[in-house]
Amino acid sequence: MADQQRAAVVTGAASGIGRAVVERLRDKYDYLACLDVADLDDEWQDADDVHGFAVDVRDPDAVSETIEAIESVAAVEAVVNNAGISQAVALSDLGPDEWDRVLDVNLKGQYLVARAAAPGMLERGRGAIVNVSSVAGLRGSATGGVHYSSSKAGVFGLTKGLAKQLGPAIRVNAVAPGLIETPLLTDSDLWTEAGLADYAAQLPLERIGTPDEVADAVAFLCTDASYVTGTVLTVDGGSMLR
Ligand code: NAD
Repeated sequence: MADQQRAAVVTGAASGIGRAVVERLRDKYDYLACLDVADLDDEWQDADDVHGFAVDVRDPDAVSETIEAIESVAAVEAVVNNAGISQAVALSDLGPDEWDRVLDVNLKGQYLVARAAAPGMLERGRGAIVNVSSVAGLRGSATGGVHYSSSKAGVFGLTKGLAKQLGPAIRVNAVAPGLIETPLLTDSDLWTEAGLADYAAQLPLERIGTPDEVADAVAFLCTDASYVTGTVLTVDGGSMLR
């Protein structure tokens, strides 16, 4: 199996941070498996190394079948659990269905993908999982609902528990982005333009981050951080210092 292709699985790969992660990992892995409910960027249509899978990360069977299909052609060596949704909603308007929807995508989805990918990695004795959380999980969110910050705090527990269970073969880490310029931020009612500018001005780095900057941190945790597991890397322009 020395010549087997090496695969990275990226969820939520059609947009924002996930899309940037795929681009960033292309020189590190042979096969980029992109799981999303949305269509992938047209730019990748003719790429030999980028493969789209229409998968809802909440669906256990679809997730397992997809990982199995990927494993039949390439060895999964990295998983980036990035798919996520947010919503601006006050507690008084937050119903149980919305709570479940956000927790299912943002937290249960990460568990399902990790559960499906871990056996192959363990068998081969190597792998890395990077879970995308948020600073909202560390300190609550000013604009997102409590379901969002709860799901992102849950990602830390998932990450640390998996790091203990899956070592030494698999390293498991999380990134906690601050505000990053993606459709989740800009095409939603989470922030007004003025609110965003105001927030950015107060950060030590005085600006919102880019998807590429999160992708750099994810790539580092996937391939370079050989003695790092169970940790949370904030990529937030210093927002936690405010
Ligand atoms: P985005 O909306 O641009 O991209 C999210 C992607 O996830 C989309 O392509 C979407 O189709 C996909 N997705 C949604 N539900 C899915 C499901 N059930 N199954 C499969 N795919 C699904 O958002 P983004 O800003 O790039 O967010 C990526 C991750 O980063 C999320 O987990 C988000 O919570 C986190 N994050 C973002 C910010 C930010 O400011 N943008 C800050 C902190 C954390």
